[in-house]
Amino acid sequence: MTFTPHGKHLIAGKWVASETTFISDPAEGTAHPFSVGTPELVAQAATAAEEAFWTYGYTSREERAIFLETIADEIEARGDDVTAIGTSESGLPKGRLEGERGRTCGQLRLFAQHIRDGKYLDRRTDGALTDRTPPRPEIRMMERPIGPVAVFGASNFPLAFSTAGGDTAAALAAGCPVVVKGHSAHPGTGEIIAEAIHAAIGRCKLHPGVFSLIQGGNRKVGEALVTHPFIKAVGFTGSLGGGRALFDLCAARPEPIPFFGELGSVNPMFLLPAALKARAHELGAGWAASLAMGAGQFCTNPGIAVVPEGAEGDAFVEATATALRNTGPQVMLTQGIAKAYRDGKARFDSRNSVRPVMTTESEGRTASPNLYEVAAEAFLEDHTLSEEVFGPLGLVVRIGSGEDMPGFARGFEGQLTTTIHMDDGDTDLARKLLPVLERKAGRLLVNGFPTGVEVVDSMVHGGPYPASTNFGATSVGTLAIRRFLRPVSYQNLPKALVEGDLAL
Ligand code: NAP
Repeated sequence: MTFTPHGKHLIAGKWVASETTFISDPAEGTAHPFSVGTPELVAQAATAAEEAFWTYGYTSREERAIFLETIADEIEARGDDVTAIGTSESGLPKGRLEGERGRTCGQLRLFAQHIRDGKYLDRRTDGALTDRTPPRPEIRMMERPIGPVAVFGASNFPLAFSTAGGDTAAALAAGCPVVVKGHSAHPGTGEIIAEAIHAAIGRCKLHPGVFSLIQGGNRKVGEALVTHPFIKAVGFTGSLGGGRALFDLCAARPEPIPFFGELGSVNPMFLLPAALKARAHELGAGWAASLAMGAGQFCTNPGIAVVPEGAEGDAFVEATATALRNTGPQVMLTQGIAKAYRDGKARFDSRNSVRPVMTTESEGRTASPNLYEVAAEAFLEDHTLSEEVFGPLGLVVRIGSGEDMPGFARGFEGQLTTTIHMDDGDTDLARKLLPVLERKAGRLLVNGFPTGVEVVDSMVHGGPYPASTNFGATSVGTLAIRRFLRPVSYQNLPKALVEGDLAL
């Protein structure tokens, strides 16, 4: 690796340091000191972002598209170094980091195409009715950028949901300057990506306040950022606890602002009787692979399988356990996440209603899979069983029959995804289940596993609370730009003022 982090914050085009440092905690390789963020640095970055808005918010769509593409080029130019520091800090394998880099650059380029096309502006015009009493003036409507946006990435996607991830790409595409709160689990990865954005700002000759990165090391940084008066919206990906705390701060501001929190989920799967009869073993092996992928550290990890009682359900449970037994320990993203996983497992072990099917002990920063089973009635009585355990822990909920599933599904909270496994013989039951599931989740799958999210126009990655704090939004796909736009009506504008995008 040729990249060695200098540990500074990027504030409005300058690399600066505060007086104190925190030491990174990489899964492997060298730890580095990083400057601790402060509320003063937040104020400088937010002020620069507000100043930048007066030019960046009025750049042409083509200028912003070129900027997004230049960021992607600059990230690719640092490709090997990005992978090296990313794997060192996160413990994720090389192939995963390379794939995530491709996705991150792909997202930036997708947003470039999306804004070139211009449909996202949702322009409408109602012509003047001069003969009407009273006369109606011409009214035009167009989406405008909301203003400076704060972005918080998650530990489990150090590229695609972090410094230049989906939130940053969507905000910059909309015309909003961005202030990123760096994640303390991957500060060096954040720094090298900030370098790429900094280089792109220089090449595109934009105002330096368009992008700032403030390293963490102190929770006050995030609090100061979401409460700064110049920040007009927040994109957050992370835990329910952290997201809820920052959401509450946004709501309590003198000027409340939208907080788009993409939080955790247990992503229940419903195994319908005909599918279970036809392929219990295949489904068990498939679930085990999805559950244990990346040490289960995916917000879309399918943590719960709802399965009818009976021999075919038993075969599914046994097939899952067999596949999980062959999965060894995997390194987790942080010490804190590994401990939270052990605590989550201990919660399941402490419940008399829950039967351990296959349990393991995890040590240090690693996690091994665990599988439990519970009756549907007991599950409904214990809310903690429906809470996310971030890691490879699966819970099978045994239900009397498939016909009980629609009623049972009503008890779930909001989810990022829900999945139906079905065959043709299950169609009538699936038809009853679908209206319940579409009220619960942002994405419904049939005969698949929810890990792996396509970045496309039709993707919704969000869902009713607690999956996200705003179920009208998505953080993946081109619809994500809507979060950082605000519709404005222009009534009776003289022709001379109908310019730019408004004129088209
Ligand atoms: P996290 O611990 O909530 O951290 C996310 C960010 O928020 C970090 O920058 C963190 O700062 C900051 N933060 C957390 N609590 C805070 C508080 N009370 N005050 C100020 N700042 C706070 O989440 P994570 O461990 O990175 O990510 C794992 C979680 O993300 C899982 O639950 C997973 O399901 C979820 N996730 C969701 C999605 C989605 O799209 N819905 C995608 C990926 C992951 P520090 O740097 O100081 O810790």
